[in-house]
Amino acid sequence: MMYVASKERYTTMEYNRCGDSGLMLPKVSLGLWHNFGDTSKFENMRQLCFTAFDNGITQFDLANNYGPEPGSAEINFGRILKEALGKYRDELIITTKAGYEMWDGPYGNWGSRKYLLASLDQSLKRMGLEYVDIFYHHRMDPETPLEETMGALASAVQSGKALYVGLSNYDGKTLSQAASILQEMHCPFVINQNRYSIFDRTVEKNGLKKTTGILKKGLITFSPLAQGQLTDRYLNGIPEDSRIRTDGRFLKESNLTPERLQQIRELNDMAAGRGEKLSEMALGWLLAQQEVTSVLIGASRPQQILDNIKAIHCAPFTEEELVRIDEIAAE
Ligand code: NDP
Repeated sequence: MMYVASKERYTTMEYNRCGDSGLMLPKVSLGLWHNFGDTSKFENMRQLCFTAFDNGITQFDLANNYGPEPGSAEINFGRILKEALGKYRDELIITTKAGYEMWDGPYGNWGSRKYLLASLDQSLKRMGLEYVDIFYHHRMDPETPLEETMGALASAVQSGKALYVGLSNYDGKTLSQAASILQEMHCPFVINQNRYSIFDRTVEKNGLKKTTGILKKGLITFSPLAQGQLTDRYLNGIPEDSRIRTDGRFLKESNLTPERLQQIRELNDMAAGRGEKLSEMALGWLLAQQEVTSVLIGASRPQQILDNIKAIHCAPFTEEELVRIDEIAAE
């Protein structure tokens, strides 16, 4: 049946300004890293996208290598665009990235101009798009001069193939250097994408979060639920339909140590005391931070999206709760 977006799609979602740019982003965004590859069911992918958009999630995050096979998430999303969502193109923020290994040989990885611009062309082709809204460099490249990588991002914008650019997995110092180069090039660099959750505090330690705030750039946090650990998923064993069992490439059974399970239980009790699910509290904890523009969730079923959106209305945190969350995370 032909998809028609819900008329209510802008009634509940809230939008944050991305740094000091003109771009507004939904507080909750959907990532297509998992559950959009060739091993997943196409109808489920469609329903995930429709549920997201029907509820005001305007931002869909991809990368050249999302799959498996690498590239297949972009192909599958391209089909959803062509068959259904594409008519809402001007209401969508579609993002992609390049920086990890994508094709054989010396030009399919890292941060050269050669790789980035070829990869963007490939991504556009796979998705059937003329432009993406945000094009990211996916990770820092210690070998390629920053000027070259940033120059490639600026060229992507100049050629009309990207509207804005972003940096992913950068640290505070490199972000600062990259931002000045991009500013000199008058390139609309607006956002950082980094892993951040109650369990992963890297951005608090490597200067990224602080620098993002100082430079007035957006920050979108990936794996905000620690790939499902900050939910009730693993409270009573490992379900057969969970990421650990269905994929296991990145989240493994060995991650669920007795200590980690104890942390999850304590956080779950705390969330219950607040009348919330752990997933809601974990996302709300991120959204309560002024640097955070959007939380970038993944989902294996539409109901998870609906549950996670509730985080935008999660209760404010008391000072005691914030301290306790830090204590549990450090256990
Ligand atoms: P999350 O931490 O949100 O984990 C998502 C997974 O958690 C779901 O697939 C599901 O797993 C489980 N889950 C989600 N909501 C619930 C719920 N309410 N109750 C129970 N389980 C739930 O994010 P991801 O790790 O998926 O990352 C999100 C996005 O971030 C990616 O799609 C990608 O766009 C981006 N990303 C970017 C990276 C980068 O280097 N820039 C790296 C990694 C991710 P299941 O049901 O299968 O158990």
